[in-house]
Amino acid sequence: MTASILGTYVWSIGLIAWFIIRYPYARKARRTATVRAVGWSRERILLAVATLGLFVAPMIWLVTGWPAVLNYKLNYAAVVVGALLFALSLWLFRRSHKDLGRQWSASLEIRDGHQIVRAGVYRLIRHPMYSSFWLWALAQAFLLPNAMAALSGLVAVAILFFTRIDHEERMLIEAFGDDYRAYMRETKRIIPGIY
Ligand code: SAH
Repeated sequence: MTASILGTYVWSIGLIAWFIIRYPYARKARRTATVRAVGWSRERILLAVATLGLFVAPMIWLVTGWPAVLNYKLNYAAVVVGALLFALSLWLFRRSHKDLGRQWSASLEIRDGHQIVRAGVYRLIRHPMYSSFWLWALAQAFLLPNAMAALSGLVAVAILFFTRIDHEERMLIEAFGDDYRAYMRETKRIIPGIY
């Protein structure tokens, strides 16, 4: 099997694993009451952008082969790096879902009885789930042998992250005041000790 085909398989398996991890939490989230939702239409657009870059664009390439002019060959080292990044992404994605528990939502929301989570992976960084999205997008860049499919994830995650992050932290400050401000002083956003 060529490295290009292997990389595409690894990306597909990672994607399926991502949906399997998320499914039970998305189900539970539907039954958890929301007391406040922030930027509803902006959030719909951001979720659509993320879906487009991490799923739809690579699938268009995978299913139709378009745009073939942007194809290139992978080497096995890139596939190994991509597989490790995807494994780390999925681990972090699962852990952050577990630690966030019933406070989780796909868009920006405050739940009924919402509490600040500072335990588990949230002890290290404030936004581990967004770190896991960055890792997924990076993995995709290493695993798919086509420039559009490889880079669409990074563009989408950059748009999602940089558009959303200030709104999310402002919402949490409004909801939790000094408790969240203190948490912000003690932690970085997505890379422990750095950013
Ligand atoms: N940004 C976080 C969570 C993503 S899920 C991460 O990347 O891990 C989005 C929801 O999580 C938001 O609606 C917000 O209400 C909630 N949230 C974010 N950080 C939180 C925290 N430390 N404690 C409790 N809820 C949090």
